[in-house]
Amino acid sequence: MQTELAGFVRDTPQGREADAILRKCVHCGFCLATCPTYQLLGDELDSPRGRIYLIKQALEGAPVTASTRLHLDRCLTCRSCETTCPSGVQYGRLADIGRAVVEERVARGPWEGAKRAVLAFALPRRALFASLLRLGRMFRFLFPGLVPAPAPAAGAWPAPRHARRMLALAGCVQPALAPRINAAAARLLDRSGISLLEAPEAGCCGALRFHLNFQEQGRDDMRALIDVWWPYVQRGEVEAIVMTASGCGATVKEYGHLLAHDAAYRDKAARISDMTKDLGEVVQPVAGTGKGRVAFHSPCTLQHGQQIRGNIESLLAQSGYELTPVPDAHLCCGSAGTYSILQPELSGQLRERKLAALQGGQPAAIATANIGCLTHLGAAAEVPVRHWIELLEEALQR
Ligand code: SF4
Ligand code: SF4
Repeated sequence: MQTELAGFVRDTPQGREADAILRKCVHCGFCLATCPTYQLLGDELDSPRGRIYLIKQALEGAPVTASTRLHLDRCLTCRSCETTCPSGVQYGRLADIGRAVVEERVARGPWEGAKRAVLAFALPRRALFASLLRLGRMFRFLFPGLVPAPAPAAGAWPAPRHARRMLALAGCVQPALAPRINAAAARLLDRSGISLLEAPEAGCCGALRFHLNFQEQGRDDMRALIDVWWPYVQRGEVEAIVMTASGCGATVKEYGHLLAHDAAYRDKAARISDMTKDLGEVVQPVAGTGKGRVAFHSPCTLQHGQQIRGNIESLLAQSGYELTPVPDAHLCCGSAGTYSILQPELSGQLRERKLAALQGGQPAAIATANIGCLTHLGAAAEVPVRHWIELLEEALQR
């Protein structure tokens, strides 16, 4: 694709990166077939190719409107298009650059702006979110399907006793929504000779605010997390950083890129990214048979963001679960961070399709790897939706 970026962006790091990405796109349109919003809306401007064109126009200085922003807002950032693209177009990175430019040039209405500001303020604050969730649960009967039911207690966290140690991220919303996930990971890793630690002061990974287009505040969250983790890394106390939520994992694995222009943090960020692993990359299977039928929903942040496919399915199968077939497994469930709150109609349609695909094989449970997908699917599924690590732990106990 030929480009002629405008002076305001041409010689910036973002402009140079966007230009290189845009030039790779050959307009072939292969990505259209795997884009969830194009499948639902059938509008080229709600496809990857259409959005790439809109971003190109914005970066070339053409007028941008509320309609430009709407088509970018409707994108789930699922990155399914990246997996499909034969030219290696890094759509997600281009979307981040384009969204920042469009956000600056087209003001949002007061209601839309306030909604985003409240989400950006409340969700990354673990204690505040936990209090709001407790309050919501007291009045759950008033909001059917909106407030998740209380989750099982975390259970005991094994005391650190092994020479091999890894850090886990508690995250912002996961401890309140599903406290058992990290504790189950700690118990299973402890059995295989690895002690899992959490840094008590660690906060949000930055994905929430970054993807709400509060990009600089998102980077502040990333820097704050690096500051908390760095002493563990510097002292050589941990060999890896383990992510139990694939959404956080996809972001932390990109810290090196997202902070590449921050001289004070780029080296630390790159080191943190190098050390980061998805939980499925470090856990061993539990030997077992006859554990029941399970449908696995692979989050976009796992299969497209981190390009990890098949290993959790294999862990579940080796641990005795029978995996049911899931058609169109590459498609997003509609959760996508705060997308389910900001684009409820599209998100609801995607969830309906995803649940039909997941439940079609008559599983006894749905397993997934990201707290957002788990909560979103769990609100409407006919069978329990669990983190896969909990199923592995249950396989041990039966
Ligand atoms: S598949 Fe890749 S090269 Fe083809 S239109 Fe989509 S982004 Fe461009
Ligand atoms: S990231 Fe997902 S929703 Fe956005 S253009 Fe790509 S495939 Fe479509």
